[in-house]
Amino acid sequence: MVLSINSSSEIKQKLNYAKKNWPAAVDKYEKQEKELGHQRNSLSKTDTDATFMHMKEDHMKNGQLKPAYNVQISTNNQYILSYSLHQNATDTNTLIPHLKQHIKNHGIKASNITADSGYGSEQNYQWLEKRRITGYVKHNQFDRNQHKKTRDKKPYSSDKLRYDAARDIYYCPKDKPMRNVGTYTQKTSTGFEQTITRYETESCKWCRLREQCHNSKGNRIISINHNQQRLKSRADKRLKTRRGIAKRKQRCFDTEPVFGNIKHNHNFKRFMLRGLEKVRVETGLLALAHNLRKKIA
Ligand code: SF4
Repeated sequence: MVLSINSSSEIKQKLNYAKKNWPAAVDKYEKQEKELGHQRNSLSKTDTDATFMHMKEDHMKNGQLKPAYNVQISTNNQYILSYSLHQNATDTNTLIPHLKQHIKNHGIKASNITADSGYGSEQNYQWLEKRRITGYVKHNQFDRNQHKKTRDKKPYSSDKLRYDAARDIYYCPKDKPMRNVGTYTQKTSTGFEQTITRYETESCKWCRLREQCHNSKGNRIISINHNQQRLKSRADKRLKTRRGIAKRKQRCFDTEPVFGNIKHNHNFKRFMLRGLEKVRVETGLLALAHNLRKKIA
């Protein structure tokens, strides 16, 4: 093995550079890490409270990230009832803090809420269930499952397998039993604990469906989150009721036009202020102006 050894003057130069610059750099990175907190992985130098996010308006069509805040609103008949600002681009993680703030501000909880599929996570469903708030909230497979063509695209996927709850056994496409081989827990990025159960087929050897059924070398193993499945299936049933269909329709002409009116009709596309608190006040003024305009229109 050949090692390249730098000359002593080169090493000295690097050590001097490190001594001079590293303490300041370490301080700077530690400060930025504190500002980032646990929920985000980027911040803007011009507004350290803002996080880099993908914008819906992408004029350059290059997916450029821009410093932004994730604004969430609750509406009723196109009036803004509450708003909240988030430093996280993922809508799923904003539902609970948004509703907590709504409850705090109004002193009462909503009896029911409607939200699109970006909010349909196990954690959100469970939170709503515990608080007895009826959620008309789609999950990410809801729309896909409404169309036979897309629904039938993967005929052997785990959600199509028959389950015998009393015996806790799944049946594979060849009707062979898949037995419970263990449970484990995992945490999501928000710290929510999920319980996953694994089921394994007795033997996939010589099976003619082997190629279409799965890719693993041994027997087929599926991982099931029973609680998530239960909550999703409750949401599915609720969304398909007459009231659920009406609520889904209402969301399109209740919440979306509010954003459309502010952003398109009033050309409000960027905040004038910087910093979470100031932007919060700016959003409040926007909401107030929107409600007043609507009231006198
Ligand atoms: S490959 Fe295995 S899991 Fe799939 S159908 Fe055949 S026996 Fe069942």
